[in-house]
Amino acid sequence: MLEVHGLTVRFGGITALDGVGFSVARGEMVGLIGPNGAGKTTLFNCLTRRHGADAGRVRYEGRDLLAVPPHAIAEAGIARTFQNLGLFPRMSVRDNVLTGAHHRGGAGFLAASLRLPRVRREEARLRAEADDVLDRLALTGVADHPATGLPFGTLKRVELARALAARPRLLLLDEPVNGLNSAEVGEFAGTLRGIREEFDVTVVVVEHHMGFVMGTCDRVVCLNFGRKIAEGPPEEVQRDPAVMEAYLGTA
Ligand code: ATP
Repeated sequence: MLEVHGLTVRFGGITALDGVGFSVARGEMVGLIGPNGAGKTTLFNCLTRRHGADAGRVRYEGRDLLAVPPHAIAEAGIARTFQNLGLFPRMSVRDNVLTGAHHRGGAGFLAASLRLPRVRREEARLRAEADDVLDRLALTGVADHPATGLPFGTLKRVELARALAARPRLLLLDEPVNGLNSAEVGEFAGTLRGIREEFDVTVVVVEHHMGFVMGTCDRVVCLNFGRKIAEGPPEEVQRDPAVMEAYLGTA
């Protein structure tokens, strides 16, 4: 589904990604780990076309992803969540989730808006889909509640729901369990396992929480200083001396 070859991104004198390559098969859940500043967010930003690449290629479902304009990423079936929640605090949970569904509507939805009966039907359909996602993530009870004031663990689920409402084929999760307590991490992991099947979605997840990564990912890619230093099954990568050295400064 996704093939990254020799991806290089520089910011002035800093090489944030240095010839990174890996691939993700459809249906897989791949963990992207590495110490602070390793290049994980830069990689996500590249995949979602927030910025370009200085070298390398990215093929997504057989097409050149680096040639896809940023506004067409959602329509191409890619959705992401952010390290710092990007929710609208005063909007209800349902409306926040609907922004994800509208995203996918893109140009088609805009064209439909020229014809009022069609836009009403489209709106009703998107709302039904958003309600379905809310139900699946056990958020129906807070659907009409403004996002502000809800517990952090709930907001993390709302962020996931918003990404899923775009019905992505590739879901990029940026530190989804950061800030959650251990019970919430376990719950989130269970939810993620369920939605993978149910939404037929391929997942790449950036996360520092090793227990979560080891328990949920099929495969792990480890970056350090912009380079890939290890790749493989979670238990193998965890024992890899280069990975241990990157994290602990000692093998
Ligand atoms: P963390 O786990 O702390 O989020 P990360 O692995 O996501 O780190 P990145 O945020 O991708 O790392 O940063 C990789 C490198 O690129 C760092 O040295 C960072 O300072 C640098 N960097 C990232 N974005 C920019 C930018 N817009 N301008 C300049 N340097 C940047």
